[in-house]
Parts: sequence; C-alpha cells; structure tokens
Amino acid sequence: MKALGPIPSGFGAVDGVLELGGSPVTRWVEEAGSTPLFLYSADHIRRRVAELRSALPVRIALHYAVKANPFPPLLELMRGLVDGFDIASGGELEIVRGAGLSLAQVSFAGPGKRDSELQAAIEAGVTLNLESEGEAARAIAIAERVGVRPRLAIRVNPSFDLKGSGMKMGGGAKPFGIDAERVPALVRTVIDSGAQWRGFHIFAGSQALDAEAVADTQAQALALAAELAQQSGVPLPHCNLGGGLGIPYFPGDTPIDLPLVGERLAAQMAALPDVLRDTEFCIELGRYLVGEAGVYLARIVDRKVSHGEVFLVTDGGLHHQLAASGNFGTVVRRNYPSAIATRFGAPVAEEATIVGCLCTPLDRLADKGGFPRADAGDLVAVFCAGAYGASASPSSFLGQGPAVEMLV
Ligand SMILES: *Cc1c(COP(=O)(O)O)cnc(C)c1O
Repeated sequence: MKALGPIPSGFGAVDGVLELGGSPVTRWVEEAGSTPLFLYSADHIRRRVAELRSALPVRIALHYAVKANPFPPLLELMRGLVDGFDIASGGELEIVRGAGLSLAQVSFAGPGKRDSELQAAIEAGVTLNLESEGEAARAIAIAERVGVRPRLAIRVNPSFDLKGSGMKMGGGAKPFGIDAERVPALVRTVIDSGAQWRGFHIFAGSQALDAEAVADTQAQALALAAELAQQSGVPLPHCNLGGGLGIPYFPGDTPIDLPLVGERLAAQMAALPDVLRDTEFCIELGRYLVGEAGVYLARIVDRKVSHGEVFLVTDGGLHHQLAASGNFGTVVRRNYPSAIATRFGAPVAEEATIVGCLCTPLDRLADKGGFPRADAGDLVAVFCAGAYGASASPSSFLGQGPAVEMLV
C-alpha cells in the first residue's frame, strides 16, 4: 500500500459523508447537478486569511495571485479579504475586471506580455511588473501613445532562490525579471520617462514548507531592495517581497510554521534601513490562501479488478486535476490526499487505485492507496484542489470539458 498525502485540517463528516461549508458534499453535488465538481469553502479561506493577518506584521499587505484560482465568485470573496491582486496575463485582467475588483490594486507580472496586454493594463491603471528592458521600452512607448501615465514597477531577478521550494523562480539565468545589477539603470529610465514609479517585485520561489527558508529569503529580498534603492538614488514606494508559502500535498509533508515566518518578518520590519523607511510592503500568495479550501469530487463509475488489483474508475481525472495525477512539475509521482467522500472516516478495508476516465496510464488520482471498500456511485474526494486544479489542467483533453465549480 502507498501512503496518501495528509488531509488538510478542518474536514469532518456528517453521517459518514465528507462535510464542507456546513453540509455533506452530497448536497452540493445534488445542487450542482453533476460530477465532477470543484467545491471551495469560503469559511476555510476566511480562516486562512485571518491566521495570516494575525501572524504577519500589519505593515505587510496581502496580495492574492489570481492564477492559483480565478473562479469569479472566489475572486469576489477575496476582494473583501485581501489588499491586492497579482495577475499574469491579459486574460486574467479581463477576469478581475469582470469580478469588479479595483484595478488600482492589481499588478501584472509575467514574461512575454504582448503590446495589446500592456496597453489594456496601462489604460486600466494596473501596475506593470516589468520583466525586461525591452518590455519597459514598449510599455513606455504605448503609454505615451495612449496618453496615460503608466504605473511601473520592476521585477528583479534575485541572485538567490528559495531553498527547498517546489518551484524556483530566482537565482541564475531566468526568463523572469531583470538581473539585479541592471536594475538601477532601468529605475532611472522609468522615472525619466515620467511614469509613476511603483518599486520592486522580488519573487524567489514557491511551495516552500520550511519557515526558516521563507524567512531567510524575505530577509535577502529586503536587503536587495535596500541596496537597489540606494543605488537608484530614489525612495522606494513599494516592494513586493514575493510569497512562497506552501501547503502539504504529499506523505510526510508538514504545514509551514506561520508564526515563525511572522516573527522573523516583524523583526526585519523593526530594523529596516533608512532607505526603506517609507516603503509599502506586500507578499503575494496563491495556494496558501486557497489550496486547502478546495475539494475535487468525482463519482465512481466502475469498480474492476486487474491482476488482483482493485481499480476505482471515476468520471473525473487529470483533465481537471493534473497536479494530483503527478503530471504538473513533479519528478516522482506521489499521492495527493484523497478519500472516499461518501464513506469518510470509515476504516481502511482494501488497497485501491483511483483512476480517471481518460485513456492514458497517466490518469491516476491515487495509486495503491488504502481506502474503505467503495463501489460505483460512491464519491471520491481529492483534497488540496483549491489551487492549480481547474485552471491548470487540460480540460479539453479527450473532449471531456471543464468540471463544475462552486464556492459555498
Ligand atoms: C505563481 C506565482 C505566485 C503564486 O504562487 P503560489 O505558490 O500559488 O503561492 C505568486 N507570485 C508570482 C510572481 C507567481 O508567478
């Protein structure tokens, strides 16, 4: 039997059925009218934000990285909970516009922004996190042409990365940001253009569970921001310190020590160099805010045995949950947390492999896990489905189409 990832805290059962948002998930499935279904718990997200607010220094604003989950009702919930939004495409700009978010609180990072995307962002008053000198030149020229004073920040490619992070986004040659030593010259170009100078964006990595590593990276980001501000010779209005807080997905993962991150950041805020005295700071988080609030539900369509192994075949799969299938940036496939939602908490009775309905051996939601006996008609739950699930999976593959999403 292979271990399953840890089920996030806060999930219980009513009459043997997984509960979410105060009701058994079977109620939401009925309401949705079909499976598969992504269910997101508003309470879970509210609790997570409250934990962050109480752990982090008040000076640190909280931004939501929209790409983790751009479901419009979830964005509307986030509007009342966080201080800003980070987007990574013109498509996400249209999504946040549609959700009624204040665009002055939005910043736009990401390589390869097209002219049309730059123009839409500039006209909307969105802050651009510039990824290269070429992008800066295009943004400045577009702003002049449309007659809008652009809000420009510079994404710095730091010389350090986030130790132990699942996805490294800094350190060495990268398509993201501008190498630190070239930043001061670009700051002067931006300011000389008459743009509104919005500071630095320093993002070194993602999905870290080691609080010390996150705190060290934040300290390095602050030191770098101070050094670059000094060299640029202008006060730094704003600094996005990146994010990187991860969530446990796999067997043996443990939650990050959030109070420790908060304490270390508070100590750093108390000892800021003069050049950062009036700087506004934020961190940007995606999965840490919403990942554990989501559950993916699929119905078992068939139960079969092959060479003595039990397969529970569901109506879901990697077209909605690419990451849980192990095909989204993982080297070794390990099991996400999963359970039989309609027999939640029942003792383990057998080893079973939960697969999707796609004709590919990659389509495994749980490999040789221990589960209660389940049959066709039962619901399977895959946890940690609130981030990079619906939006980061190939839902058109094999003509399957997207899953229903609900925020409850
Ligand atoms: C993807 C991304 C994030 C969010 O990452 P999470 O691991 O979901 O917190 C934040 N900032 C930038 C620049 C990103 O590219």
